[in-house]
Amino acid sequence: MPLPNPIPETAQPPQRLLLGPGPSPVHPRILEALARPTLGHLDPAYLKIMDQLQGMLRRLFQTENPMTFAISGTGTAGMETALVNLLEPGDGALVCVNGYFGGRMAEIAERTGARVTRLERPWGEVFEAGEIEAALEHGAVKVVALVMAETSTGALQPLAEIAEAVRRHDALLVVDAVTALGCVPVAVEAWGIDAIYSCSQKGLGCPSGLSPVSFSPRAMAAVAARKTPVQSWYLDLTLLARYWDEGKSARVYHHTAPSNMTYALHEGARRLLEESLDGVYARHRRNHEALAAGLAALGMPYTAQEGHRLPQLNAVAVPEGVAEGVVRQQLLERFGIEIGGGLGVFAGKVWRIGLMGHGSREGNVLLLLAALEQLLVEQGHRFDPGAGVAAANASYRKQRKHPAKPETDGQGSGAE
Ligand SMILES: *Cc1c(COP(=O)(O)O)cnc(C)c1O
Repeated sequence: MPLPNPIPETAQPPQRLLLGPGPSPVHPRILEALARPTLGHLDPAYLKIMDQLQGMLRRLFQTENPMTFAISGTGTAGMETALVNLLEPGDGALVCVNGYFGGRMAEIAERTGARVTRLERPWGEVFEAGEIEAALEHGAVKVVALVMAETSTGALQPLAEIAEAVRRHDALLVVDAVTALGCVPVAVEAWGIDAIYSCSQKGLGCPSGLSPVSFSPRAMAAVAARKTPVQSWYLDLTLLARYWDEGKSARVYHHTAPSNMTYALHEGARRLLEESLDGVYARHRRNHEALAAGLAALGMPYTAQEGHRLPQLNAVAVPEGVAEGVVRQQLLERFGIEIGGGLGVFAGKVWRIGLMGHGSREGNVLLLLAALEQLLVEQGHRFDPGAGVAAANASYRKQRKHPAKPETDGQGSGAE
Protein backbone atom coordinates (compact mmCIF):
# COMPACT_ATOMS: atom_id res chain seq x y z
CA MET A 1 0.00 0.00 0.00
CA PRO A 2 1.52 3.39 -0.93
CA LEU A 3 2.31 5.63 1.99
CA PRO A 4 -0.04 8.60 2.16
CA ASN A 5 2.96 10.86 2.77
CA PRO A 6 5.98 9.67 0.80
CA ILE A 7 9.27 9.83 2.69
CA PRO A 8 11.38 12.65 1.28
CA GLU A 9 14.71 11.99 -0.38
CA THR A 10 17.71 12.23 1.90
CA ALA A 11 18.70 15.88 2.43
CA GLN A 12 21.25 16.99 -0.18
CA PRO A 13 22.36 20.52 0.62
CA PRO A 14 24.16 22.22 -2.29
CA GLN A 15 27.77 23.36 -2.04
CA ARG A 16 27.89 27.06 -1.20
CA LEU A 17 30.65 29.52 -0.55
CA LEU A 18 29.54 31.14 2.71
CA LEU A 19 30.73 34.75 2.64
CA GLY A 20 27.94 36.25 4.71
CA PRO A 21 27.72 37.20 8.39
CA GLY A 22 27.82 33.52 9.42
CA PRO A 23 27.87 30.60 9.25
CA SER A 24 31.34 30.65 7.70
CA PRO A 25 32.74 27.83 5.51
CA VAL A 26 33.42 24.65 7.47
CA HIS A 27 36.78 22.99 6.82
CA PRO A 28 36.60 19.28 5.83
CA ARG A 29 38.66 18.40 8.91
CA ILE A 30 35.87 19.78 11.07
CA LEU A 31 33.16 17.93 9.13
CA GLU A 32 35.18 14.74 9.65
CA ALA A 33 35.41 15.42 13.38
CA LEU A 34 31.60 15.67 13.50
CA ALA A 35 31.27 12.15 12.10
CA ARG A 36 33.28 10.48 14.90
CA PRO A 37 31.59 8.13 17.41
CA THR A 38 29.08 9.76 19.72
CA LEU A 39 30.06 9.42 23.39
CA GLY A 40 28.10 9.76 26.61
CA HIS A 41 28.63 13.02 28.47
CA LEU A 42 30.29 11.29 31.46
CA ASP A 43 32.44 8.83 29.49
CA PRO A 44 36.05 9.32 30.66
CA ALA A 45 37.15 9.52 27.01
CA TYR A 46 34.69 12.37 26.47
CA LEU A 47 35.73 14.18 29.66
CA LYS A 48 39.30 14.22 28.38
CA ILE A 49 38.18 15.88 25.12
CA MET A 50 36.17 18.39 27.16
CA ASP A 51 39.20 19.25 29.32
CA GLN A 52 41.28 19.79 26.21
CA LEU A 53 38.57 21.96 24.69
CA GLN A 54 38.42 24.13 27.81
CA GLY A 55 42.20 24.54 27.73
CA MET A 56 42.13 25.63 24.09
CA LEU A 57 39.22 28.03 24.64
CA ARG A 58 41.24 29.70 27.41
CA ARG A 59 44.05 30.27 24.92
CA LEU A 60 41.65 31.74 22.37
CA PHE A 61 40.08 34.07 24.96
CA GLN A 62 43.53 34.74 26.52
CA THR A 63 42.42 33.97 30.06
CA GLU A 64 42.94 31.52 32.89
CA ASN A 65 39.30 31.75 34.00
CA PRO A 66 38.28 28.30 35.31
CA MET A 67 34.73 28.94 34.04
CA THR A 68 35.65 28.86 30.37
CA PHE A 69 33.55 26.37 28.43
CA ALA A 70 30.93 26.00 25.71
CA ILE A 71 27.23 26.58 26.23
CA SER A 72 25.01 24.13 24.31
CA GLY A 73 23.34 26.63 22.04
CA THR A 74 24.21 29.34 19.53
CA GLY A 75 25.78 32.74 20.25
CA THR A 76 22.48 34.08 21.51
CA ALA A 77 22.46 31.38 24.21
CA GLY A 78 25.86 32.70 25.31
CA MET A 79 24.43 36.23 25.37
CA GLU A 80 21.48 35.06 27.43
CA THR A 81 23.75 33.11 29.82
CA ALA A 82 25.89 36.18 30.55
CA LEU A 83 22.94 38.50 31.12
CA VAL A 84 20.51 36.28 33.03
CA ASN A 85 23.21 35.15 35.46
CA LEU A 86 24.62 38.60 36.22
CA LEU A 87 21.34 40.52 36.38
CA GLU A 88 18.37 40.14 38.69
CA PRO A 89 15.31 42.32 39.22
CA GLY A 90 16.21 45.87 40.24
CA ASP A 91 19.90 45.70 39.21
CA GLY A 92 21.23 48.57 37.12
CA ALA A 93 22.52 47.75 33.63
CA LEU A 94 24.04 49.98 30.97
CA VAL A 95 23.74 48.50 27.49
CA CYS A 96 25.57 50.18 24.62
CA VAL A 97 23.58 50.05 21.38
CA ASN A 98 25.14 51.01 18.06
CA GLY A 99 23.70 48.23 15.93
CA TYR A 100 21.32 45.28 15.83
CA PHE A 101 23.07 43.01 18.34
CA GLY A 102 23.45 45.71 20.98
CA GLY A 103 19.67 46.01 20.73
CA ARG A 104 19.29 42.26 21.29
CA MET A 105 21.45 42.51 24.44
CA ALA A 106 19.22 45.30 25.74
CA GLU A 107 16.05 43.24 25.11
CA ILE A 108 17.44 40.25 26.98
CA ALA A 109 18.66 42.47 29.84
CA GLU A 110 15.20 44.07 30.10
CA ARG A 111 13.56 40.64 30.46
CA THR A 112 15.58 39.97 33.64
CA GLY A 113 13.75 42.79 35.42
CA ALA A 114 16.92 44.87 35.63
CA ARG A 115 16.75 48.67 35.26
CA VAL A 116 18.28 48.97 31.81
CA THR A 117 19.68 52.19 30.38
CA ARG A 118 20.41 52.11 26.66
CA LEU A 119 23.35 54.25 25.63
CA GLU A 120 22.90 54.83 21.90
CA ARG A 121 25.23 55.71 19.05
CA PRO A 122 24.39 55.90 15.34
CA TRP A 123 24.90 52.59 13.52
CA GLY A 124 28.49 52.22 12.29
CA GLU A 125 30.06 54.34 15.05
CA VAL A 126 31.85 53.07 18.16
CA PHE A 127 31.69 54.13 21.82
CA GLU A 128 34.40 56.06 23.65
CA ALA A 129 35.46 55.44 27.24
CA GLY A 130 34.54 59.02 28.24
CA GLU A 131 30.87 58.71 27.38
CA ILE A 132 30.55 55.38 29.18
CA GLU A 133 32.31 56.84 32.21
CA ALA A 134 29.88 59.79 32.13
CA ALA A 135 26.89 57.42 31.97
CA LEU A 136 28.29 55.50 34.96
CA GLU A 137 28.22 58.67 37.08
CA HIS A 138 24.39 58.56 37.15
CA GLY A 139 23.35 55.95 39.67
CA ALA A 140 24.49 52.42 40.47
CA VAL A 141 25.29 50.20 37.53
CA LYS A 142 26.11 46.54 38.11
CA VAL A 143 26.69 45.51 34.50
CA VAL A 144 27.95 47.31 31.40
CA ALA A 145 27.31 45.38 28.19
CA LEU A 146 28.60 46.00 24.71
CA VAL A 147 29.34 44.33 21.42
CA MET A 148 32.96 44.03 20.35
CA ALA A 149 32.33 43.13 16.70
CA GLU A 150 28.95 44.54 15.64
CA THR A 151 28.06 42.27 12.76
CA SER A 152 25.21 44.50 11.59
CA THR A 153 27.53 47.46 10.88
CA GLY A 154 31.04 46.00 10.57
CA ALA A 155 32.38 48.16 13.42
CA LEU A 156 35.15 47.02 15.79
CA GLN A 157 34.68 48.39 19.30
CA PRO A 158 37.95 49.12 21.20
CA LEU A 159 37.65 47.77 24.75
CA ALA A 160 40.79 48.37 26.80
CA GLU A 161 39.96 51.90 28.01
CA ILE A 162 36.28 51.16 28.46
CA ALA A 163 37.15 48.15 30.61
CA GLU A 164 39.27 50.38 32.85
CA ALA A 165 36.42 52.85 33.27
CA VAL A 166 34.00 50.03 34.11
CA ARG A 167 36.46 48.70 36.70
CA ARG A 168 36.84 52.15 38.30
CA HIS A 169 33.08 52.15 38.87
CA ASP A 170 33.16 48.63 40.25
CA ALA A 171 30.81 47.33 37.57
CA LEU A 172 31.04 44.08 35.57
CA LEU A 173 31.86 44.19 31.87
CA VAL A 174 29.93 41.86 29.54
CA VAL A 175 31.27 41.61 25.99
CA ASP A 176 29.70 40.08 22.88
CA ALA A 177 32.58 38.49 20.97
CA VAL A 178 30.36 36.36 18.73
CA THR A 179 31.97 37.68 15.53
CA ALA A 180 35.28 38.66 17.15
CA LEU A 181 36.76 35.42 18.48
CA GLY A 182 39.13 33.77 16.02
CA CYS A 183 39.29 36.83 13.76
CA VAL A 184 40.63 39.73 15.82
CA PRO A 185 42.53 39.73 19.15
CA VAL A 186 40.35 39.17 22.22
CA ALA A 187 42.33 39.60 25.47
CA VAL A 188 39.90 38.78 28.27
CA GLU A 189 42.34 39.00 31.15
CA ALA A 190 44.53 41.86 29.93
CA TRP A 191 41.51 44.06 29.33
CA GLY A 192 39.56 42.93 32.38
CA ILE A 193 36.42 41.49 30.79
CA ASP A 194 34.12 39.74 33.29
CA ALA A 195 31.82 37.82 30.98
CA ILE A 196 32.31 37.07 27.31
CA TYR A 197 30.61 34.82 24.79
CA SER A 198 31.17 33.79 21.19
CA CYS A 199 29.83 31.14 18.80
CA SER A 200 31.06 28.15 16.87
CA GLN A 201 30.02 29.25 13.36
CA LYS A 202 31.89 32.47 12.67
CA GLY A 203 35.62 32.84 13.44
CA LEU A 204 35.88 29.25 14.68
CA GLY A 205 34.66 27.88 11.38
CA CYS A 206 32.31 25.16 12.72
CA PRO A 207 28.58 24.61 12.23
CA SER A 208 26.44 26.60 14.63
CA GLY A 209 25.34 25.06 17.91
CA LEU A 210 27.92 25.89 20.59
CA SER A 211 28.76 29.15 22.30
CA PRO A 212 32.21 29.42 23.91
CA VAL A 213 31.98 31.54 27.07
CA SER A 214 34.27 32.71 29.86
CA PHE A 215 33.43 34.20 33.26
CA SER A 216 35.92 35.90 35.59
CA PRO A 217 36.11 34.98 39.28
CA ARG A 218 34.50 38.41 39.95
CA ALA A 219 31.57 37.47 37.73
CA MET A 220 31.20 34.09 39.43
CA ALA A 221 31.25 35.82 42.83
CA ALA A 222 28.43 38.09 41.64
CA VAL A 223 26.43 35.04 40.56
CA ALA A 224 27.02 33.41 43.95
CA ALA A 225 25.82 36.59 45.70
CA ARG A 226 22.44 36.68 43.91
CA LYS A 227 19.35 37.08 46.06
CA THR A 228 17.12 35.24 43.58
CA PRO A 229 17.74 32.04 41.61
CA VAL A 230 18.70 32.50 37.95
CA GLN A 231 15.37 32.36 36.11
CA SER A 232 16.77 30.05 33.42
CA TRP A 233 17.43 26.57 34.74
CA TYR A 234 19.20 25.50 31.54
CA LEU A 235 21.62 28.46 31.55
CA ASP A 236 22.16 28.72 35.33
CA LEU A 237 25.94 28.99 35.83
CA THR A 238 25.77 27.62 39.35
CA LEU A 239 24.33 24.38 37.94
CA LEU A 240 26.51 24.37 34.82
CA ALA A 241 29.60 24.80 37.00
CA ARG A 242 28.98 21.34 38.49
CA TYR A 243 29.61 19.85 35.06
CA TRP A 244 32.14 22.27 33.60
CA ASP A 245 34.22 23.67 36.46
CA GLU A 246 37.36 21.53 36.59
CA GLY A 247 37.98 22.69 40.15
CA LYS A 248 35.09 20.42 41.18
CA SER A 249 36.05 16.85 42.03
CA ALA A 250 33.55 15.15 39.74
CA ARG A 251 31.57 16.27 36.74
CA VAL A 252 27.85 16.07 37.49
CA TYR A 253 25.15 15.62 34.85
CA HIS A 254 23.21 18.77 34.00
CA HIS A 255 22.13 18.20 30.40
CA THR A 256 23.37 15.84 27.69
CA ALA A 257 26.42 17.45 26.16
CA PRO A 258 26.38 17.52 22.33
CA SER A 259 29.50 15.39 22.01
CA ASN A 260 29.84 15.50 18.22
CA MET A 261 29.62 19.29 18.20
CA THR A 262 32.27 19.30 20.92
CA TYR A 263 34.60 17.35 18.60
CA ALA A 264 33.96 19.93 15.89
CA LEU A 265 34.72 22.87 18.17
CA HIS A 266 37.79 21.02 19.48
CA GLU A 267 39.02 20.68 15.90
CA GLY A 268 38.18 24.31 15.09
CA ALA A 269 40.18 25.52 18.09
CA ARG A 270 43.08 23.20 17.17
CA ARG A 271 43.16 24.63 13.67
CA LEU A 272 43.40 28.21 14.96
CA LEU A 273 46.15 27.37 17.44
CA GLU A 274 48.09 25.42 14.80
CA GLU A 275 48.08 28.45 12.53
CA SER A 276 48.92 30.66 15.59
CA LEU A 277 46.63 33.43 16.74
CA ASP A 278 48.91 36.10 15.29
CA GLY A 279 48.86 34.28 11.96
CA VAL A 280 45.07 34.06 12.06
CA TYR A 281 44.67 37.78 12.79
CA ALA A 282 47.19 38.74 10.08
CA ARG A 283 45.38 36.57 7.51
CA HIS A 284 42.06 38.23 8.30
CA ARG A 285 43.68 41.69 7.94
CA ARG A 286 45.39 40.79 4.66
CA ASN A 287 42.25 39.55 2.97
CA HIS A 288 40.23 42.46 4.32
CA GLU A 289 42.73 44.98 2.88
CA ALA A 290 42.46 43.35 -0.54
CA LEU A 291 38.66 43.14 -0.45
CA ALA A 292 38.40 46.74 0.74
CA ALA A 293 40.60 47.90 -2.16
CA GLY A 294 38.37 45.97 -4.57
CA LEU A 295 35.11 47.30 -3.14
CA ALA A 296 36.44 50.87 -3.20
CA ALA A 297 37.23 50.46 -6.89
CA LEU A 298 33.60 49.41 -7.44
CA GLY A 299 32.35 52.53 -5.65
CA MET A 300 31.05 50.93 -2.45
CA PRO A 301 31.83 52.81 0.79
CA TYR A 302 32.01 51.04 4.15
CA THR A 303 29.31 51.75 6.73
CA ALA A 304 31.63 51.52 9.77
CA GLN A 305 33.58 54.47 11.09
CA GLU A 306 37.06 54.85 9.52
CA GLY A 307 39.75 53.21 11.65
CA HIS A 308 37.21 50.89 13.32
CA ARG A 309 36.44 48.37 10.59
CA LEU A 310 36.19 44.68 11.17
CA PRO A 311 38.41 42.66 8.85
CA GLN A 312 36.02 39.71 9.08
CA LEU A 313 32.79 41.57 8.32
CA ASN A 314 32.76 44.07 5.50
CA ALA A 315 29.52 46.06 5.49
CA VAL A 316 29.25 48.34 2.46
CA ALA A 317 26.58 50.57 0.97
CA VAL A 318 24.77 49.13 -2.06
CA PRO A 319 25.35 51.48 -5.03
CA GLU A 320 22.49 53.78 -6.02
CA GLY A 321 20.09 52.19 -8.52
CA VAL A 322 21.28 48.61 -7.92
CA ALA A 323 18.65 46.05 -6.86
CA GLU A 324 20.13 44.83 -3.56
CA GLY A 325 18.11 41.62 -3.25
CA VAL A 326 18.44 40.63 -6.91
CA VAL A 327 22.23 40.78 -6.78
CA ARG A 328 22.32 38.69 -3.62
CA GLN A 329 19.93 36.13 -5.09
CA GLN A 330 21.94 35.88 -8.32
CA LEU A 331 25.20 35.53 -6.41
CA LEU A 332 23.65 32.53 -4.68
CA GLU A 333 21.90 30.97 -7.69
CA ARG A 334 24.50 31.52 -10.42
CA PHE A 335 27.74 31.57 -8.47
CA GLY A 336 26.88 29.62 -5.31
CA ILE A 337 28.08 32.49 -3.11
CA GLU A 338 26.18 33.67 -0.04
CA ILE A 339 26.57 37.22 1.26
CA GLY A 340 24.34 39.01 3.77
CA GLY A 341 21.86 41.85 3.38
CA GLY A 342 21.37 44.65 5.89
CA LEU A 343 19.57 44.32 9.24
CA GLY A 344 17.30 46.89 10.88
CA VAL A 345 17.91 50.43 9.61
CA PHE A 346 20.38 49.02 7.06
CA ALA A 347 17.86 46.62 5.45
CA GLY A 348 17.88 46.98 1.67
CA LYS A 349 20.79 49.43 1.76
CA VAL A 350 23.81 47.40 2.79
CA TRP A 351 25.65 44.22 1.85
CA ARG A 352 27.57 42.35 4.50
CA ILE A 353 30.52 40.34 3.23
CA GLY A 354 32.06 37.96 5.73
CA LEU A 355 35.65 36.77 5.46
CA MET A 356 35.58 34.69 8.61
CA GLY A 357 37.53 31.64 9.67
CA HIS A 358 38.32 29.33 6.77
CA GLY A 359 36.43 31.76 4.49
CA SER A 360 39.14 34.42 4.81
CA ARG A 361 41.26 33.41 1.82
CA GLU A 362 42.66 35.11 -1.26
CA GLY A 363 40.78 32.89 -3.72
CA ASN A 364 37.46 33.78 -2.09
CA VAL A 365 38.13 37.52 -2.26
CA LEU A 366 38.97 37.38 -5.98
CA LEU A 367 36.08 35.06 -6.80
CA LEU A 368 33.55 37.23 -5.01
CA LEU A 369 34.80 40.44 -6.63
CA ALA A 370 34.69 38.86 -10.10
CA ALA A 371 31.12 37.60 -9.59
CA LEU A 372 29.99 40.89 -8.07
CA GLU A 373 31.47 42.88 -10.96
CA GLN A 374 29.56 40.76 -13.48
CA LEU A 375 26.27 41.31 -11.65
CA LEU A 376 26.92 45.04 -11.26
CA VAL A 377 27.52 45.33 -15.02
CA GLU A 378 24.16 43.62 -15.59
CA GLN A 379 22.56 46.05 -13.14
CA GLY A 380 23.81 49.01 -15.19
CA HIS A 381 26.09 50.24 -12.39
CA ARG A 382 28.71 52.58 -13.90
CA PHE A 383 32.25 51.58 -13.01
CA ASP A 384 35.38 50.37 -14.71
CA PRO A 385 34.79 46.60 -15.19
CA GLY A 386 37.74 44.60 -13.93
CA ALA A 387 38.82 47.39 -11.59
CA GLY A 388 37.71 45.58 -8.42
CA VAL A 389 39.67 42.38 -9.09
CA ALA A 390 42.68 44.42 -10.28
CA ALA A 391 42.67 46.56 -7.13
CA ALA A 392 42.50 43.47 -4.90
CA ASN A 393 45.36 41.82 -6.79
CA ALA A 394 47.41 45.02 -6.51
CA SER A 395 46.76 45.03 -2.76
CA TYR A 396 47.97 41.42 -2.43
CA ARG A 397 51.11 42.22 -4.45
CA LYS A 398 51.86 45.22 -2.27
CA GLN A 399 51.23 43.25 0.92
CA ARG A 400 53.53 40.43 -0.22
CA LYS A 401 56.28 42.98 -0.82
CA HIS A 402 55.73 44.71 2.52
CA PRO A 403 54.23 42.18 4.94
CA ALA A 404 52.49 43.76 7.95
CA LYS A 405 54.06 43.38 11.40
CA PRO A 406 52.23 40.86 13.55
CA GLU A 407 49.53 42.40 15.70
CA THR A 408 49.55 42.11 19.43
CA ASP A 409 46.07 42.74 20.70
CA GLY A 410 45.34 45.48 18.17
CA GLN A 411 44.22 47.83 20.91
CA GLY A 412 47.54 49.00 22.32
CA SER A 413 47.46 47.30 25.70
CA GLY A 414 50.25 44.82 24.99
CA ALA A 415 48.37 41.57 25.55
CA GLU A 416 49.46 38.13 24.30
C1 LIG B 1 25.69 36.25 15.06
C2 LIG B 1 25.69 37.16 16.22
C3 LIG B 1 24.93 36.90 17.36
C4 LIG B 1 23.94 35.78 17.43
O1 LIG B 1 24.54 34.56 17.37
P1 LIG B 1 23.67 33.27 16.99
O2 LIG B 1 24.73 32.22 16.91
O3 LIG B 1 23.02 33.57 15.69
O4 LIG B 1 22.70 33.04 18.06
C5 LIG B 1 25.06 37.74 18.45
N1 LIG B 1 25.89 38.79 18.41
C6 LIG B 1 26.62 39.10 17.32
C7 LIG B 1 27.50 40.29 17.33
C8 LIG B 1 26.53 38.30 16.19
O5 LIG B 1 27.23 38.59 15.11
